[in-house]
Amino acid sequence: MTAATKITLSESELPTHWYNIVPDLPHAPAPPLDPATHQPLPASALSSLFPPALVEQEVTRERYVPIPAQVRDIYKLWRPTPLVRARRLERALNTPARIFYKYEGGSPSGSHKPNSAVPQAFYNARAGTTRLFTETGAGQWGSALAFACTQFDLPCAVYQVRASYDAKPYRRTLMRLWGADVRPSPSPHTAAGRGVLAADPRTPGSLGIAIAEAVEDAARVPGAKYALGSVLNHVLLHQTVIGEEALLQMRKADASPDVLLGCTGGGSNFAGLSFPFLREKWAGGHDATVRCVEPAACPSLTRGEYRYDFGDAVGQTPLLKMHTLGHSFVPDAIHAGGLRFHGMAPLVSQLLHEGVVEAEAIGQTECFEAGRLFAKCEGVVAAPEPTHAIAATLREAARAKETGDETNILLAVCGHGLLDLAAYDKLLDGSLVDFEYPREKVSKAMASVPNVRQEERDKAASGTAP
Ligand SMILES: *Cc1c(COP(=O)(O)O)cnc(C)c1O
Repeated sequence: MTAATKITLSESELPTHWYNIVPDLPHAPAPPLDPATHQPLPASALSSLFPPALVEQEVTRERYVPIPAQVRDIYKLWRPTPLVRARRLERALNTPARIFYKYEGGSPSGSHKPNSAVPQAFYNARAGTTRLFTETGAGQWGSALAFACTQFDLPCAVYQVRASYDAKPYRRTLMRLWGADVRPSPSPHTAAGRGVLAADPRTPGSLGIAIAEAVEDAARVPGAKYALGSVLNHVLLHQTVIGEEALLQMRKADASPDVLLGCTGGGSNFAGLSFPFLREKWAGGHDATVRCVEPAACPSLTRGEYRYDFGDAVGQTPLLKMHTLGHSFVPDAIHAGGLRFHGMAPLVSQLLHEGVVEAEAIGQTECFEAGRLFAKCEGVVAAPEPTHAIAATLREAARAKETGDETNILLAVCGHGLLDLAAYDKLLDGSLVDFEYPREKVSKAMASVPNVRQEERDKAASGTAP
């Protein structure tokens, strides 16, 4: 075991390929369905939203996808990212566990999101897209895409969830600095936004509503396309650069993980870290437990149903087979805005359904307390989202203390929280609250999830390639 605290890689060790988990899955993924007919959607149907290269990556069965040289060049502004042994945290916890964290907070926008924003902007620019529309919850994805688009002189418009638009003015500044047009969602720009505003003018908005607005605009504006920061296969694919680096770094540290932890909003940072490790696990390389950590206020994996649902709030997107709380569910305004999504990546959902990965839900006060300890010990102020993985790490470290096991914990600290200090202020003031599991809101939202008929489900389950 290396004595190093920071395990770094040289630029020449930056991965050359992304890893696609699909060909290695125990079962073929259930295809996306047409929202109107409930029939498997042909890949060509995605072409109105995404450029050809991303449509191809969405459905590819190739195990490795080369990272374009232009994308690697931009990655090199902050990649490879460090893997850090959290020795001071270990000492504070008096645990025999060894804690390693992969830190993505050093990217231009401060999270893992540019790992997918850069290739998405690249492929769109190459295909002649005139403008990219997107949505952003916490502001992380919007700022990542704004940065990426400006690298390729591609105009970008961002629908920012109202609650975050009001609470995070500095995210808006970042997006504008990088040239994006930022609009609070729900907005009067779109039919979807106008509908929601008519029903509830004071709504805090949700990621599902903002997605509906961006998709509507992308369809309406000539030459425009849409970009999504999580959930879809191609986004998870791009994020695997995290796990490929971490694999090399754990090898350099001469350590094999026993537990892997990542927070899950749409599943991309979790997938990015864990998928390359799952490949190694299936090849007999290690036997780590791999676990998603989600907010108790938006517990799609631990309390949701595994079934077809829409990705947006109004039912425009293809139906995805995933763990869902119902597309019309609007979660309480927890500070981890990036984890306020009603659904989950189909690939992550399938892995949970098939018992390959686990999931746990944690309330936000426990998470922010963990974030405070992490900041004190390690110096890094984590974004509210990865404090979920940190809280799960503390639980794991306490277990190791009880059993005396020298457990190797690997977690994703997927972003910094320097633009989320208002949330930490609440913790320090003692005004941070936990939200109960919103049982009634979820039952109401689940009632509006479409019933995909059984024979269509069977057809889908037989793995018809889209
Ligand atoms: C967007 C975001 C998340 C949630 O998205 P995933 O796709 O689940 O990774 C988590 N943490 C940070 C810092 C984010 O920006």
